[in-house]
Amino acid sequence: MSVENIRIVLVNTTHPGNIGSAARAMKTMGLSSLYLVDPVDFPSGEARALSSGATDLLESAVVTQTLEEAIADCELVIGASARVRGISLELTDPRDTAQVAVSEASTGRKVALVFGREDRGLTNEELRLCHRQVHIPSVAEFSSLNLAASVQVLAYELRMTSLSHEGEASVPEVREYELASSEQMESFYTHLRDMLNDVGFFKSCNPEKIMAKLRRIYGRSRLDRMEYNIMRGILTETQAAVKNLRKPS
Ligand code: SAH
Repeated sequence: MSVENIRIVLVNTTHPGNIGSAARAMKTMGLSSLYLVDPVDFPSGEARALSSGATDLLESAVVTQTLEEAIADCELVIGASARVRGISLELTDPRDTAQVAVSEASTGRKVALVFGREDRGLTNEELRLCHRQVHIPSVAEFSSLNLAASVQVLAYELRMTSLSHEGEASVPEVREYELASSEQMESFYTHLRDMLNDVGFFKSCNPEKIMAKLRRIYGRSRLDRMEYNIMRGILTETQAAVKNLRKPS
């Protein structure tokens, strides 16, 4: 089943009850992979109570310190956000998101759906680690759902999509190489930033803004592992060439 490749990631959740309710929401829809990034209170009796029997998900939940660790092996990362921010990631509704997530998962890729904290959602830094954004089209003046309720909406759409795909032969997209993982892309962005710094590209412009745009470009093109290696090689050679040029003769 392709949904096994889809994980729900809850970032820095404050209320353990929300973790339990999210586990319940997942289990009712056939999802089982739960990642908790730096939860404020976990494990907890309240989480168990509100999971209403989905304790197996709580017991097998993977707890990490950072979002980077929770998504390191994922090829597609989707951030759920109550507000539609200026970061201009590709934005979709839960139904379209489920289509993309299930079809990627059915080719064996690992997909993460990332949910933010109850009071402030996901930080811009965290959203930058995502390839796309999903927004539940709530009313603009009261847009924020409860955390577990938003997990339920996404889990339901994933279920509907995977049910409608059941029995269909999945035709994997033909790619010679696997896509680069999130961990690889993060080291690529760090290297790219260092190289641009070495060549003096940033000058008076804001490196954060430029890097956000570059992430968008590379996020769209989705490098495979061979392309990733080529890009890393180009960066290394560019840095070496600049260093040589600057050597006093
Ligand atoms: N006040 C916060 C809302 C946090 S709600 C904010 O403005 O960002 C907790 C989490 O539930 C959010 O980070 C998001 O992951 C999810 N969520 C809540 N409402 C949502 C919506 N309308 N669309 C998508 N995700 C939503």
